[in-house]
Amino acid sequence: MTTAEALLMEIMKGKHRLFQLEQQLREIQLQCQHDFQEEQTHRICRKCKRMESLHY
Ligand SMILES: [Zn+2]
Repeated sequence: MTTAEALLMEIMKGKHRLFQLEQQLREIQLQCQHDFQEEQTHRICRKCKRMESLHY
């Protein structure tokens, strides 16, 4: 296997892992009883880190 092939395989594995982590986070955010902290341009939940823009 060439170095490029090995790198591509690692990248694919990383992307798959990233997708799994994003799914896990989404599930947590769906079930969260949000506790939002207001910022200037957005608000963010203290517990699950869900971010919502305050721009209309
Ligand atoms: Zn939350």
